[in-house]
Amino acid sequence: LAEKLQNTFKKLKRKGKISEKDLKEALREVKLALLEADVNYKVVKDFIANIKERSLGKEVMESLTPGQQVIKIVKEEMTELMGGTESKIEFTSKPPTILMLVGLQGAGKTTTAGKLGGVLSKQGKNPLLVACDIYRPAAIEQLQVVGDSLGIPVFTMKTHKSPIDIAKAGVEYAKQNHKDLVIIDTAGRLHIDEDLMDELKNIKNSVFPTEILLVVDAMTGQDAVTVSESFNKQLGIDGIILTKLDGDTRGGAALSVRAVTGKPIKYVGMGEKLTDLEVFHPDRMASRILGMGDVLSLIEKAQENFDEKKAIELEKKLRSQQFTFEDFLEQLQQVKNMGPLSDVLGMLPGINSKKLKGIELDDRQLIQSEAIINSMTKEERRDPSLINASRRKRIALGSGTKVQDVNKLIKSFEQTKKMMKQLSSIEKGNKKGRFKF
Ligand code: GDP
Ligand code: MG
Repeated sequence: LAEKLQNTFKKLKRKGKISEKDLKEALREVKLALLEADVNYKVVKDFIANIKERSLGKEVMESLTPGQQVIKIVKEEMTELMGGTESKIEFTSKPPTILMLVGLQGAGKTTTAGKLGGVLSKQGKNPLLVACDIYRPAAIEQLQVVGDSLGIPVFTMKTHKSPIDIAKAGVEYAKQNHKDLVIIDTAGRLHIDEDLMDELKNIKNSVFPTEILLVVDAMTGQDAVTVSESFNKQLGIDGIILTKLDGDTRGGAALSVRAVTGKPIKYVGMGEKLTDLEVFHPDRMASRILGMGDVLSLIEKAQENFDEKKAIELEKKLRSQQFTFEDFLEQLQQVKNMGPLSDVLGMLPGINSKKLKGIELDDRQLIQSEAIINSMTKEERRDPSLINASRRKRIALGSGTKVQDVNKLIKSFEQTKKMMKQLSSIEKGNKKGRFKF
């Protein structure tokens, strides 16, 4: 989707003034790209209509950079489509807050129950996981394993109790043991059926959850949207957790589910690890879909691992474009602590995470890059434009690498810098067309 949209926008950007015909043509392409990405048809229709209406306005068509204005509008509308701002979980003033996770089999409920417990306990909550999936063999054990690895207690009852009894007893147990958060993991089915809905309704009516969160698999595209609609109609939901977004290359579910159900996406699952859960940021998702990369998420991820001061400094430098090889070196060293490199790079603008899959990113490359930068003089690190051919040769010799390796590193440094420059120009409101899709 990102690639298609970028091509369309590239064309649009090249034009000075655009005519209504240009705009219509571009929007037609955007429409096709969205439909191909499995975005709900009605959502696409309304989305395009809104953009057309706003774009044909005087300020846009008569501005110096109409193409960019249109792109900005697309991004804003896309953000709006996904809810505008992030949507938090509501906690009750009278604990415990009860979150009931529902969804089809395999959507990621059990995993997400753990992830959510982990995230919220870091925010000071004292969670209890309640195992109400009594049908799938080993489902209870699965939740216990998840709980154990996070150090979160799991409430189970194994002696032929109904899920309703287990849920009730779990909430009671939480009250007596000062747990202020109960996360109920329920059973799923392959398809929505009446039995499932009846059971979920019964649980709902016996424990009165604070929020019912629907867990849906982003990779199922429009099916995810249909499923969300049915759950919302039949059971009523308060929010959506979209899982497996790490494997979703099209973004169709993320783009349509909010518009179709009216319910916000609260969290997104970004991998199988129990730490791979993120708050859903509509604006960042729009940027990601539009191929600008998700630099803010990257910075957040970095922040978790850097000490905060360093990250803020780095962010400042990136934005003010005083980014030098010294910073690059520091960044490389920090990257080692940030988990799988492909995760981190996938969030950078212009890098297609699909393309990263086949590439071996190992520590050797990092070590080599470090060695090369270490062989530069202080002046060279601060002002890479000094590094001419003879200096490159010297640096290669000094670091035990080849001149090509040095060239490659300098090029990737320049690219990083350029990407940051683009980012800061988007944030300044697309001034003067410096930003290129
Ligand atoms: P449930 O049947 O709804 O309880 O689903 P599970 O929690 O058992 O998850 C089903 C599968 O999806 C497991 O293999 C999980 O590891 C995987 N899974 C869950 N969430 C994510 C995610 O965000 N990303 C990826 N890649 N896999 C996930
Ligand atoms: Mg499960």
